[in-house]
Formats: sequence, C-alpha cells, structure tokens
Amino acid sequence: MAADAKYQGVYPQLVAKIIASYVSHHNVTAEQIPELIGSVHRAIDALGRPVEPPRTLTPAVPIRRSVQHDAVICLECGWKGKMLRRHLSTRHGLSSDQYLKRWSLSSDHPLTAPAYSAQRSTLARELGLGRGRRQSVAGSPAAGGARPRRGRPRGSRSGAATRP
Ligand SMILES: [Zn+2]
Repeated sequence: MAADAKYQGVYPQLVAKIIASYVSHHNVTAEQIPELIGSVHRAIDALGRPVEPPRTLTPAVPIRRSVQHDAVICLECGWKGKMLRRHLSTRHGLSSDQYLKRWSLSSDHPLTAPAYSAQRSTLARELGLGRGRRQSVAGSPAAGGARPRRGRPRGSRSGAATRP
C-alpha cells in the first residue's frame, strides 16, 4: 500500500517499459527486479528535476535601464512613471518587497525616480522649516531654529557670500 503511494507523480508506465526492456535483454532474477525498479525510478525522478521550469523571468526592460533620472520602469510590464510602489500594488498585486525579491533586486533599488525623490525631500525640508519657524514663534524655541547653525562656513575673508 505504501509502495503504491511512492509511485504517484512519477511515470509508472515509463518505468515499467524500461524494466521490461531491460529484463528482456538481460538475465535478471526476480529478486533483482525491485532493486531495478528502484534505480530506474530514481533515475527518472532525478531527470525530472532540472527539466522542471526554474521560472526565469524576463524583465520588460533591462534592469539597469529600469531606473532613470526622472522615471522608474516597471520590470513586470514596462510601465514608466515617477513612483512604482502604487503601480505595483494596484496593477500587479505586489508589495515593493515582493517585487524586489521577485527580480532579485537589492533592498535599496529605487522604486521612485531619483529626481522625484530629491524633489520630494527638498519639499519636505521646506515644509519642515516652515513648521519649525512657526513653532518657535508660537513659543517652543527648543524645537530648533529655522537656520541650521551647525556646519556654518568659516573664513568669510575669501569673499564668498556667507551668512553674517
Ligand atoms: Zn507594471
């Protein structure tokens, strides 16, 4: 009974054919047959493995080209835009992690166009400064001044327009 289950998913007919062919050309004792079946079975099983599709994915564009200065390209479908994150989830049902894994990309592979993310961080900084200024006016000077003091350039005699 257990032996039957063992043959599921393999090719019993093929095994039988090989055994029959072998037995008809060789002198095989009845005792050797189970062993023969086993080895043929293992051989076929091993053959099946590399043939099983390793599912190689073909990106819509070469990975190297998928990140441009002002756009990122979806490797799934070639969609081009500023941000992939939303596109991936709505169009492909993939989280950014899944996407990166799927294409064996490093975790810092940009999913937002570099130009766009730079723009956004500048915007965020501006918004942050604006808020900070208003807050300090409202009475929390500890929140940090609007002007960052650290890294103030020295050596004003070079003539550069430095802050007074
Ligand atoms: Zn896509």
